[in-house]
Amino acid sequence: MKYISTRGQCEPQNFEEVVLTGLAPDGGLFIPEIVPQLSREQILSWKNLSYADLVYEVIRLYVAGAIEDKVLKQMVIDTYADFSHPEVAPLHALNNNEWVLELFHGPTLAFKDFALQLLGRLLDYFLTKRQQHVAILGATSGDTGSAALEGCKHSEFVDIFILHPHNRVSEVQRKQMTTVLGDNVHNIAISGNFDDCQQIVKQAFSDQSFLPDGYQLVAVNSINWARIMAQIVYYFYAALKFIDRNESVSFSVPTGNFGDIYAGYLAKKMGLPIKQLIIATNKNDILHRFISKNQYNLSSLEASLSPSMDIMVSSNFERFIFDMFNGDTAKVTGFVNGLSSNIHQVSGSEWEFAKAIFDSASVDDETTCAVIKEVFDSQGYLLDPHTAIGVKAAQLCKNDDLTPMITLATAHPVKFSEAITKAGLFMPALPQHLSDLLEREENYVVMPNKLSKVEKYIRQSL
Ligand SMILES: *Cc1c(COP(=O)(O)O)cnc(C)c1O
Repeated sequence: MKYISTRGQCEPQNFEEVVLTGLAPDGGLFIPEIVPQLSREQILSWKNLSYADLVYEVIRLYVAGAIEDKVLKQMVIDTYADFSHPEVAPLHALNNNEWVLELFHGPTLAFKDFALQLLGRLLDYFLTKRQQHVAILGATSGDTGSAALEGCKHSEFVDIFILHPHNRVSEVQRKQMTTVLGDNVHNIAISGNFDDCQQIVKQAFSDQSFLPDGYQLVAVNSINWARIMAQIVYYFYAALKFIDRNESVSFSVPTGNFGDIYAGYLAKKMGLPIKQLIIATNKNDILHRFISKNQYNLSSLEASLSPSMDIMVSSNFERFIFDMFNGDTAKVTGFVNGLSSNIHQVSGSEWEFAKAIFDSASVDDETTCAVIKEVFDSQGYLLDPHTAIGVKAAQLCKNDDLTPMITLATAHPVKFSEAITKAGLFMPALPQHLSDLLEREENYVVMPNKLSKVEKYIRQSL
């Protein structure tokens, strides 16, 4: 299996190279040259597999021999053994054939663990084999940071630099990052928002001459293909609970950087019978404006009660528009580069292509809190604010009651006290392994929103 860049200006690469870089050298994102197609029989034959066994079956198709089967299998088993629920990704029933898929049983209590626990092991495997040191650089809207640190901190071959927007992540989120201590761990709070952090990361990747000799950057954001790959699996896992009885299932996905829902799109492309795929956004609703009105233009990024989705420029949307533009890489490049001049409309047929796959809704803070309260009062189940947006969007967009509607529960509510308190509810206790989190010592630096400053800091820390 080869991977190609959405911008078409670099040679196809293999899995190992793609994992070890993240961003393609031409500034694009890697996508599989060919998406494997599965028959319904093939998919149904996986019905009784454990979560880890299913991961192995799905990702083998993409790893494509870059890692020996036996080694890959053990890596996958180790990855998901650390999750606190025996099902790894259990389903919880709400009313009216609505479900939530709990993706918060990993070490940092958000769905990011599914991919980053695996990515940490993949990186360690390839770097050990090569005896090569790298600098991991990532931007986080709150949850990627801690998940990346937890996933990668054990590798002796990495230094990790995580940028988060200063004062724009929740206290629990910040502490989950800044209390991970170690000589190879560097947390940087940027005076700016998530888009600023992501922009610095992308620029650093595009010109790495600031690094000491022999070093290269590795991406842990969802621009790294391995993250998308790992996330495809839980769509299969959830759907397999239904599709022998139901023809298809639908998913509602709390969306920020478009990584999680892009994984769902790929699952559908592989042959998983997904009826509706719903993009659920908060008031930072550029994707909803695109799907509902064919308007893809920037507006100012606003802080919300669902901070992990406070993103305007969704990186992974580029992977989808590659398909929407039918593989025309010049068009992709033009679209992405034109965003700053705010041109954005696509042709009628391109827009129809997107609308045939995605539904969308935008949910404001007030409604988010109302949903948290309503579901708790009526069903005794506490949603985190991101998941609440997914649940609301599912209700707004669903076409029928017969198709199971599954909202991805992207984080545990304990990470987001502000929303829970505003909903008038009490916070649950932190789980055992994090019970003393708020008392732990923190370590991070605050920096201006300036590429050169960040580059200097990285160089001096290596
Ligand atoms: C990262 C995150 C999202 C958004 O996921 P994307 O892949 O960036 O679209 C939603 N909810 C939570 C809790 C997250 O951490």
